Amino acid sequence: MTELLPNHVAGRWQSGSGAGTPLFDPVLGTELVRVDATGLDLPEAFRFAREQGGNALRALTYRQRAGLLGAVVKVLQANRDAYYEIATANSGTVKNDSAVDIDGAIFTLGQYAKWGDALGDVRALRDGDAVKLGKEPVFQSQHLQVPTHGVALFINAFNFPSWGLWEKAAPALLSGVPVIVKPATATAWLTQRMVKDVIDAGVLPAGALSVICGSSAGLMDQLQPFDVVSFTGSAETATVIRSHPAVAARSVRANIEADSLNSALLLPGAAPGSDAFNLLVREVVREMTVKSGQKCTAIRRILVPTEVYDAAAEAIGAKLAGVTVGNPRNESVRMGSLVSRAQLNAVREGLGALAAQTTVLHDGRNKSLIDADPAVAACIGPVLLGARDADAAQRVHDVEVFGPVATLLPYRDLAHSIALAHRGQGSLVTSLYGSDDAALAQAALAVAPSHGRIHVVTPEVTQAHTGHGNVMPMSMHGGPGRAGGGAELGGLRALDFYHRKTAVQASPGVLAALGL
Ligand code: NAP
Repeated sequence: MTELLPNHVAGRWQSGSGAGTPLFDPVLGTELVRVDATGLDLPEAFRFAREQGGNALRALTYRQRAGLLGAVVKVLQANRDAYYEIATANSGTVKNDSAVDIDGAIFTLGQYAKWGDALGDVRALRDGDAVKLGKEPVFQSQHLQVPTHGVALFINAFNFPSWGLWEKAAPALLSGVPVIVKPATATAWLTQRMVKDVIDAGVLPAGALSVICGSSAGLMDQLQPFDVVSFTGSAETATVIRSHPAVAARSVRANIEADSLNSALLLPGAAPGSDAFNLLVREVVREMTVKSGQKCTAIRRILVPTEVYDAAAEAIGAKLAGVTVGNPRNESVRMGSLVSRAQLNAVREGLGALAAQTTVLHDGRNKSLIDADPAVAACIGPVLLGARDADAAQRVHDVEVFGPVATLLPYRDLAHSIALAHRGQGSLVTSLYGSDDAALAQAALAVAPSHGRIHVVTPEVTQAHTGHGNVMPMSMHGGPGRAGGGAELGGLRALDFYHRKTAVQASPGVLAALGL
């Protein structure tokens, strides 16, 4: 029997009472560890976090809590090698892809430590300036933000077991709100191990950080009016979260990051071989292959002028042909596996759903795997699809294939390309490629209403740009409509979710005494 990973709740390590759900190596097919949450006293777990963790965190100032984040960074850095090993074994990722998850998390925590330090030794935040309520300034209104007196429940997706925890925990802990994380079962090991290292190091107050691995049953039922829930995952589960009585009847604040049909848009006039064309090709190939395309921000639809459709298909296909796929332990492998055989089946089903409305422009499915058995490994080569009638191919704008798959779509003119981008019905990100600043700016404003982030790539930012799918803590992560309507990161904006707004109406003397 493999090791049963304990949960950390109510300030102590507790194993579930069931046999556990096994976690697998998606390349070798071997069982790694098991997780189980059966029999945990969830009311006690939430009460302990809310009371012990919340009180201890709120007794500190923002600067002191920023210090805690800095201490967490040190713990994670000290154990980095172990995290890479777990990511290879449980997520099937090559080193560069593991870095996106692991080092991306450490970087994000470090940023929030810096931003939090600058907030200083206060326990509430001023929100705008005081405004007089009458003719004379003797009675004024001052808005302020105070940490919510509740717990933050994170229900996370399988593709970012590290970053998915810390990009949410950084602003939560900085705000003074204790965290309970429930990682997706398939890849829960890395999340559990990171929490274990931080708890064992004793750098956080008791109750500030808890982890529950295994079934989600009963978690939402624990939420009280001042708690918050931050969910990342499929649109289907998002609907369950949104309609839960805690959210619907108890006003628990919910942030939802769901699926998204992101796009890349080559602006009109960019000829094959131009800088803009080459930059699009490079980014598309990168997005299709990083983490085997299992990124919520990955490019799924590639919008190009009709006259460059064939050249784009050829250029992207030629680069994809050079992508080696297989066991991430082999140094010659560029793309590892999907996280599970179930995910592999889901990708195959997704390709099946798109088949009637698309043609295959590049097919990596039959390429032999390196150091991996195709009957066992959850590996699949990249597949580039195409649809010459971008309007008629409705499913391309509807079905998210969560793997190394994207579809090339031709457009007639800029207005048509913008209309196609909007057909994602709300996306996390689009990237624009061109060299005319005015045209790019016009396109950015036109796509803005349906996108959370617009990543503009011009020749002068070739080396400096941070990547279409790379989520930087400085920019908001989230998107309207189908993407879930959530908003994470974006610097200190992320703290809003963990605070409550209050307007204090008082004399200037009282307002000054608030000490903000
Ligand atoms: P999922 O099946 O919806 O699972 C997400 C999380 O919800 C897991 O922790 C899962 O636990 C839990 N869960 C399942 N049923 C639940 C229920 N009834 N109540 C409460 N929690 C429940 O999604 P996934 O397959 O892991 O993730 C893939 C999807 O996530 C993709 O569509 C992708 O686009 C999206 N995603 C979005 C973002 C973003 O930032 N927008 C980021 C990453 C991924 P178990 O694992 O134990 O079932």
